[in-house]
Amino acid sequence: MSKHQAVLKADAAAVFEPLRRIAEQNGFAVEHSKTRMVIDAPLGLVVMEKTGTETTGAFDAPSRAELQMLKELYAQRFDNLGFADGIVWNAPRASTPLNQVICKVSSCAQISPNFARVRLHGEFTAFAAKTAGLHFRFLFGPKGAAWPTLDENGLTCWPQGVSNWHRPPYTVRKLGKDANWMDVDIVLHEGGRVTEWSKTVKAGDEIALTGPSGSKMPTDQNLDLFGDETALPVILRIIEDAHVDISGHATIAVRDRMDIQHVSDAGNFKIKWIDMTEPDALVRDLRDSLKTRPEQSVFFAAERRQADAARQLLKDASHPSASYRAASYWTKAT
Ligand SMILES: Cc1cc2nc3c(=O)[nH]c(=O)nc-3n(C[C@H](O)[C@H](O)[C@H](O)COP(=O)(O)OP(=O)(O)OC[C@H]3O[C@@H](n4cnc5c(N)ncnc54)[C@H](O)[C@@H]3O)c2cc1C
Repeated sequence: MSKHQAVLKADAAAVFEPLRRIAEQNGFAVEHSKTRMVIDAPLGLVVMEKTGTETTGAFDAPSRAELQMLKELYAQRFDNLGFADGIVWNAPRASTPLNQVICKVSSCAQISPNFARVRLHGEFTAFAAKTAGLHFRFLFGPKGAAWPTLDENGLTCWPQGVSNWHRPPYTVRKLGKDANWMDVDIVLHEGGRVTEWSKTVKAGDEIALTGPSGSKMPTDQNLDLFGDETALPVILRIIEDAHVDISGHATIAVRDRMDIQHVSDAGNFKIKWIDMTEPDALVRDLRDSLKTRPEQSVFFAAERRQADAARQLLKDASHPSASYRAASYWTKAT
């Protein structure tokens, strides 16, 4: 595990209580006494200890990328709780955010009516770990801005302010064997900033991203996967990389049959392609599958309203909450 420390000039009782509440609201395990609190969060372990009139926080994460995210998350929490001024973080040894990769575009081509594929060359070793997240965020800064760096506290310093950066999440569609390249499939849509970028980008252009992040490879043995075109990359990646013991069904909605991607080895998965222009089709397929395969673990990702409808359906069906995830991958402009 990678580690970071912070000392807060605040009494433990004042720090523990709000952090415990937030962690428990998020469903994370918390152990605490008057002098020590341990939060077991998905990004890593947070150990807060009373040291005289101060409080020490130790942040442990399985990877450098997760450590950076965990630290940024708690820096934001301390800030919101009014402790930010009294914090001393241990000095970072790096000058670049631990989850940031600067890479080069090696190609970008339209592969079907509604998809472009960009290949990036870079140091993607962290993405090859078995427990790595399947996603990342592109970093599009304001005109002329340099890439983010680390400040003296080891927190990301965003040139011209973080709100001026566009950081859309994407999926690693394929990772090269030596983790020195990755392919990203980009849905082309009107008004999309990444769509515009994909039309003008050339081999050799530099781009930065933060990752790996987000959902990891599922380990449940029976999986039902549902997604629209934005989730096509993650669903096909899961199917292609799934362990031999895992089996399931996938329903993928695309705007054009020409967007269907051939999978050379779908293993124990059955893939069904449906028409994305029919707005209720994906949720209807989920409803049918809950009747015929109620024991499956479910992953659903699509436009926000569809994800909301899917979540409601799963709740109404009393599907165990640990056995499903319904994610909003994009929001339709109203
Ligand atoms: C975990 C995760 C993984 C994802 N992986 C992928 C991926 O691998 N490939 C991929 O293409 N997308 C993926 N997405 C979706 C992608 O992040 C969003 O579509 C994002 O908004 C695209 O950014 P943009 O710059 O193109 O559009 P923006 O500049 O953010 O939005 C501009 C306008 O386009 C609309 N818009 C945004 N997305 C879409 C869309 N898909 N279709 C129609 N209108 C849209 C918005 O409502 C807005 O009005 C993923 C999302 C998540 C949460």
